Amino acid sequence: MRVVVYSTRAYDEEFLARANADGRHELVFLEARLDATTAGAAAGAQAVCGFVNDRLDGAVLARLRDLGVGLVVLRCAGFNHVDLEAAARLGIAVGRVPAYSPHAIAEHTAALVLSLNRKIHRAYARVRDGNFALEGLLGFDLYGRTVGVVGTGAIGACFCRIMRGFGCQVLATDPQPSPACEALGVRYVPLAELLGASDIVSLHCPLTPQTHHLIGREALAAMKAGAMLVNTSRGAVLDTRAVIEALKRGHLGSLALDVYEEEADLFFRDLSSEVIRDDVFARLLTFPNVLVTAHQAFFTSEALAAIAATTIANLDAFAERGAPLHPVSVERLA
Ligand code: NAD
Repeated sequence: MRVVVYSTRAYDEEFLARANADGRHELVFLEARLDATTAGAAAGAQAVCGFVNDRLDGAVLARLRDLGVGLVVLRCAGFNHVDLEAAARLGIAVGRVPAYSPHAIAEHTAALVLSLNRKIHRAYARVRDGNFALEGLLGFDLYGRTVGVVGTGAIGACFCRIMRGFGCQVLATDPQPSPACEALGVRYVPLAELLGASDIVSLHCPLTPQTHHLIGREALAAMKAGAMLVNTSRGAVLDTRAVIEALKRGHLGSLALDVYEEEADLFFRDLSSEVIRDDVFARLLTFPNVLVTAHQAFFTSEALAAIAATTIANLDAFAERGAPLHPVSVERLA
């Protein structure tokens, strides 16, 4: 099949080309993001391949259908950026990579917790500047602390296991509790109880209409004073403006983010010589107790290899049977 691959970086091309080494699919790599202005590049293709910040709304999907595209394969687990109802109406199948390496994201989350707690990001810069003072770098023992995990699917469960390894008490909330987590000693409680009892709150639920701004003013006020909040799920699960207010008041102790609700115009690009026009994001970067990575939690060689292999498997299945191996359907939004 001819497949136009949007939002391609050199690493995507390398891993996808390796997974498609026999050339059974014709992959056309584009650096551009998929949106209404770039959809036309899919002319002549049977499928497009997209990533987290590609725009797959009704208008873009209708344009793709007009061009003859029958399949969208996502190189990610999340599908919040796809209008699934429009895809179903237009007869476009959507495939994704449901679990490529939950360890990659869970381990990055743990790295954020450790770095933010022990101020490794600040210590690194200080030591290189010949400043060996410790003032301002005080952390706390993770051992014995309470960690609240919102969403214990593939990634959340992995993160629970890591935090149990540090000797933390782990509370969780999920409409579908995991017996494997319960066996680890994770205790399921309502969100309000989790927020009030946790020293660290980590978000691992998908972005859906129900979880949009799940952590807003009210939830932040319900958190323990001085607690740490970590988001490696999707940006809009957090209300960023409310988070900034909570940081300014001093109620929120610290914040680590790998995702941001307006990240599409920022992340995955080198903007180091440009002016950041997003004032909310720029404000976040001014806090000493905020640590941001640019959607890199998935970025391990194991994860990239698995993403590429599953993407090719989705294309193979569609070519053979008319449906991707891991389809996403409208029902998943319910
Ligand atoms: P998953 O589907 O295995 O698990 C999600 C869990 O969240 C499920 O158990 C579900 O029941 C639960 N959930 C749904 N609504 C909830 C709610 N309101 N409150 C609490 N829990 C709720 O997904 P996963 O593979 O663990 O991935 C989780 C999310 O992580 C993805 O949806 C994606 O947005 C994000 N992600 C981020 C990166 C990254 O690089 N930063 C990479 C992959 C995935």
